Amino acid sequence: MDVLTIFPKMFPGVLSESLLGKAREKGLVDLRVQDIREHAEDKHRTVDDRPYGGGPGMVMKPEPLLRALRAVGVPEKKGKTSTPFVIYLSPQGVPLTQSLADDLARKKRLVFLCGHYEGVDERIFDWIDLEVSIGDVVLTGGEIPAMAVLDAVARKVPGVVKEPESLLQDSFAPGWEGHLDCPHYTRPAEWRGRRVPDVLLQGHHEAIQAWRAEQSLRRTRQRRPDLLRAEHTKRKRQ
Ligand code: SAM
Repeated sequence: MDVLTIFPKMFPGVLSESLLGKAREKGLVDLRVQDIREHAEDKHRTVDDRPYGGGPGMVMKPEPLLRALRAVGVPEKKGKTSTPFVIYLSPQGVPLTQSLADDLARKKRLVFLCGHYEGVDERIFDWIDLEVSIGDVVLTGGEIPAMAVLDAVARKVPGVVKEPESLLQDSFAPGWEGHLDCPHYTRPAEWRGRRVPDVLLQGHHEAIQAWRAEQSLRRTRQRRPDLLRAEHTKRKRQ
């Protein structure tokens, strides 16, 4: 995976810790970072300019962006099926969901383009396959969104998560039929007057499974009824 940014020192950042750090050390996840400024056309390493038509802010120039894309193997003439798959992080993109992360994990190679200022010159979109947003909120740059997408995609690489069955038991996963995860408890069985539900202490596997499934559905109804509505609409269409 390649990241194109004007702040290369932000990487690997949080991606050097925890599971992802280990996965990178073991060579399971390959992360390369390109400084877009290296591809500027002048000695001042300029990557932005004022917007045509006036107004506040700056816009990222297209030529340094294209040069950075070309440097990581993006073809001059980008077709829909050509590799690598180029993602531009943008609040205007498709929302990041588990199913999108699963799809991206199946791509051969990903390139993440991080924007800044008002964003990128519109003409660069001929080289971008997908715009991805991490939510209806505007951040200062694409680096933190890129890290979020990278983390979600890298978790799906075989070997990164030690127990692959745990991936099936997270929120949105098939184990919960796309619903939210159930509540979790660990020792002690009683803590500050709060007891772990009896069913989890009795060791009856089927009863535990039934309780967890019921809790998962209850939580989803309370917190994310939109997930159940979407499921209902999908079933009606089939
Ligand atoms: N003017 C742009 C707009 O309103 O759509 C926002 C520009 S934002 C200040 C600078 C950069 O941060 C964007 O080019 C994008 O790369 C990144 N960014 C900001 N919010 C984001 C989000 N919610 N998801 C993904 N990327 C985001």
